[in-house]
Amino acid sequence: GCAFHFTADLGLAADDGRALESEAVVTPVEPSRAPLRILLAEDNLVNQKLACRLLEKHGHRMAVAGNGLEALAMLERETFDLALLDVQMPELDGLETARAIRDRERRTGIRLPIVALTAHAMPGDRERCLEAGMDAYVSKPIQKAQLFAAIAQAFATVGPSNR
Ligand code: MN
Repeated sequence: GCAFHFTADLGLAADDGRALESEAVVTPVEPSRAPLRILLAEDNLVNQKLACRLLEKHGHRMAVAGNGLEALAMLERETFDLALLDVQMPELDGLETARAIRDRERRTGIRLPIVALTAHAMPGDRERCLEAGMDAYVSKPIQKAQLFAAIAQAFATVGPSNR
């Protein structure tokens, strides 16, 4: 599990009506209000712990995969509300994993909100992530405001019907 050393308010900036810093639109769909079952696919242990800590502190329940293949296997066994996919992973990277998830959804008809985690904010990264079927994008090191804004954006993209 994750040990907590945070005392910061982890609420979205949108909670108090201020504009979010990212491109995310302010939306009444507030993912932090309800506990979510979140699949995190990330091969870096430090980033795994950081993301777990931030999200568990907010009441969400985490399942961690070390690469895209593990993530796909977990999605076969369990239903998640949200996926966070690191772009650079061994075995199957985040882009390929997102494409596989979207392919599978053509059969199921259910759309999983997906947030990309990327190590470097390179030109074209965002477009590559969106093209692969991801809904939002956050660059590492993970910062709580950007992460929660990206999650809100992913839910806004998918729409409230999946909640
Ligand atoms: Mn990685």
